[in-house]
Amino acid sequence: MDITFWGVRGAIPSPGAHTVKYGGNTSCVELYFRDSHRLIIIDAGSGIRNLGSHMISPDYRQKPIEADLFFTHTHSDHIIGFPFFAPLYIPGTKLRIYGPTTYDENSLEKIIGSHMSYHFFPVRLAELAAEMVYNELKEGSHELGDGITVTTRYLNHPLLCFGYRFEHRGRVVCTAFDTEPFRNLFARGPDGPSDDDSITREGEKVVAQENNRLEKFFEGADLLIYDAQYLQKEYESLRLGWGHTAIEYAIETARRAQVKRLALFHHDPERTDDQLDALASLYCKCDQEGRLEIFFAREGMRIEI
Ligand SMILES: [Zn+2]
Ligand SMILES: [Zn+2]
Repeated sequence: MDITFWGVRGAIPSPGAHTVKYGGNTSCVELYFRDSHRLIIIDAGSGIRNLGSHMISPDYRQKPIEADLFFTHTHSDHIIGFPFFAPLYIPGTKLRIYGPTTYDENSLEKIIGSHMSYHFFPVRLAELAAEMVYNELKEGSHELGDGITVTTRYLNHPLLCFGYRFEHRGRVVCTAFDTEPFRNLFARGPDGPSDDDSITREGEKVVAQENNRLEKFFEGADLLIYDAQYLQKEYESLRLGWGHTAIEYAIETARRAQVKRLALFHHDPERTDDQLDALASLYCKCDQEGRLEIFFAREGMRIEI
């Protein structure tokens, strides 16, 4: 499996002199399966524009283009690049599109398509040349053919958001692009609504169960791509409940889940290359037994597992 990072930034595209090294494009990751030439794309943040340009270049391996596009969720940084994905305009392109069931009157197709209404974009969804089939998923495992399986798990985010676990020939890639540790809403203290110890304890139990359940979901992965937008001190000051994770927690989770490689992802748009380099020298060392390799995902980075 070859994994390419086309966009690694969170929240909003952040081009400029200070983001040249790690990249300013938002969430988009490509998984390529050499034996079957299958292509899976995770999210259509602004990074998908460069992937699309690559796919329509004359020497691209596969014509007509066929791919599976998985949305983790529909926050704008994860769908903003969709109208600029060039293969959409090429007749013969086939896209199978997946994402969480929306549970409201707006289907996944309608939400993605809303970006292509005349208020926001000159081309309408109905005018696209590509053949697209939408699949709304719930938690569970799904066979994608060619020996590829995807399992979905809800993360903790202000909108239903999937973590994905892709498995192929014993290799595993997991994603947790936008997520926050589950935390006890019934904690005692000035902000807690409860002064009942039993409720507090029950809350702690449930939170531990949910966080453990996610760790199990990532267990043994060859690569875990994990939201690491904040530092712990940033997270604790005013960012609780925004749906993102601190770097320190992401690393602890990866250790507990015994994953082999951790790609820290969804970098804060304010984080400069110099700051990421400094954080990398602090955090990106193998742990003492050399079991976990940690790195900050960088636009254009390609790895093989
Ligand atoms: Zn995001
Ligand atoms: Zn989000």
